[in-house]
Amino acid sequence: MKVKITETAFRDAHQSLLATRMRTRDMEPIIGEMDKIGYHAIEAWGGATFDTCIRFLNEDPWERLRLLKENFTETPLQMLLRGQNLLGYKHYADDIVTHFVEKSYENGIDIFRIFDAMNDIRNMQQSIKVAKAQGAHVQGTISYTISPVHTIDKFVEFAKELEALECDSIAIKDMAGLITPSVVFELVSRLKEETDLLVNLHSHCTSGMTPISYYAACQAGVDILDTAISPIAWGTSQPPTESIVAALQGTEYDTGLDLKALNQIKKYFEGLRKDYEGYIDPISERIDTDVLMYQIPGGMLSNLISQLKQQNALDRYQDVLEEMPRVRKDMGYPPLVTPTSQIVGIQAVMNVINGERYKIVSNEVKEYMKGNYGRAPAPINEEIAKKIIGDGERITCRPADLIEPEYEKFKKEGEELGIIKKEEDILTLAMLPPVAKQFLKGELEEEPFPEVHIGTSSDNDLSAIPTEYSVEVDGDIFDVKILPTGFMKFGGNGGGEPVGPIPGALTASMQGMVLKIKVNTGDKVKEGDVVAVLEAMKMENDIYAKEDGIVKEIFVEEGDTVNAGDNLMLIKSLDE
Ligand code: MN
Repeated sequence: MKVKITETAFRDAHQSLLATRMRTRDMEPIIGEMDKIGYHAIEAWGGATFDTCIRFLNEDPWERLRLLKENFTETPLQMLLRGQNLLGYKHYADDIVTHFVEKSYENGIDIFRIFDAMNDIRNMQQSIKVAKAQGAHVQGTISYTISPVHTIDKFVEFAKELEALECDSIAIKDMAGLITPSVVFELVSRLKEETDLLVNLHSHCTSGMTPISYYAACQAGVDILDTAISPIAWGTSQPPTESIVAALQGTEYDTGLDLKALNQIKKYFEGLRKDYEGYIDPISERIDTDVLMYQIPGGMLSNLISQLKQQNALDRYQDVLEEMPRVRKDMGYPPLVTPTSQIVGIQAVMNVINGERYKIVSNEVKEYMKGNYGRAPAPINEEIAKKIIGDGERITCRPADLIEPEYEKFKKEGEELGIIKKEEDILTLAMLPPVAKQFLKGELEEEPFPEVHIGTSSDNDLSAIPTEYSVEVDGDIFDVKILPTGFMKFGGNGGGEPVGPIPGALTASMQGMVLKIKVNTGDKVKEGDVVAVLEAMKMENDIYAKEDGIVKEIFVEEGDTVNAGDNLMLIKSLDE
């Protein structure tokens, strides 16, 4: 039985190693060669690519997709879709899901790999249904993880539910590279025995076990393996395409792919890699066996770790590393994949840096605790839930049933702003407000290529205490600035003249973007009122009034980027 290969160079490989920054113009020259190989599919869209296209590359992801489709005439294009989250970080209404899947298909997606971070099938129903209605190949996905409640039986049961929704194939999505040869053998064998679906294994090399697991999957009858062309393989990326092809040659699992032709493609990516060297964090290319100890994706926090190591401050690293599984347990063991990886990871960081667990909680954690992300795999910690949401109402229905249609709202908003030139722009606006507004107005620029990582501490001032960290979560890089207590040096509005702290002013606790300002100058506020919402590390954080008073002055506008310590607004107490 021949094994088929899906090449991830244009999606997961560069998401894992190049911070998702591959430009369309660097993909274009090699498409013709790749199209002749005979891959099962090219994973080319979705995941973090949509966000980074807009946020960092000033590229329209829809135009990228159309260009890929025009040039890949033989090979199916595959995307990764986060179920009801689509390519964003929260649930969307069904009408947005419908339009988004329709437009993705229309612009060139042949295979939809659909997953939900909670493995809650209710969050996948709508996208599966719409993709099927288009005539696409739908790959239902098991988000693989290890926990006391995740058993082979449960995964097989879930696959059967996906089969009942008429999925065409099943992907085992092992985003952290945790699956062992024996587990994968049993899981693939059971899936082949108990369903009629094609089985696709997707894993990462983080733990070092993956090529062995790929072979075990072959022995169990796997149909499709995900690999990456060798210059952007290994480490936190997929196993190398050429190595897997060579390893299976002459066996009953022979992929039939031509190593000579693959070598031409390899040469191209070797050259490309040199241009992108500055994006590569050496740590993401190493095998990280910590992942085996803590069962968290190896990419998470890797940059934070390297910074802490350079500063001889590893005590914090250990704290965060140990806090992560505790937060995950509190939340009922969600698999760690976007968006739960961000939600859990950032909460663990906050719990550690704030010195008290759940003292500061993102809105996403609150929503999670209320059930708005779906059913947790295991019961959540009631004590923690109470601390976070009090006796607030919880939901047990399909979360999207509670979301009113929103397509017309985004359409109207975009049209009023004069930024809608095509229907897809409405969906872009829905995915990423407020960044999409700046993008669609033409206010963004492509970021320059970064300088090459030195990888040593020689260029750093070792006497300084680090206050800026890059946190990598599931391949997405977030810049975090931590403000030492009582020390403020950043200016307002993310630049310009440095503004000193204004006594009594409410300041940003983290670097981020002002998403909403909920008060006007002159408004009376009560202690604990939410006066603004700050988006930091893609999580929304409420900013609360610290006392009763009147809003005297507001220093920022919605959409402004702020640094930790920037003045947000001045609230004067009533008795002053
Ligand atoms: Mn992956």
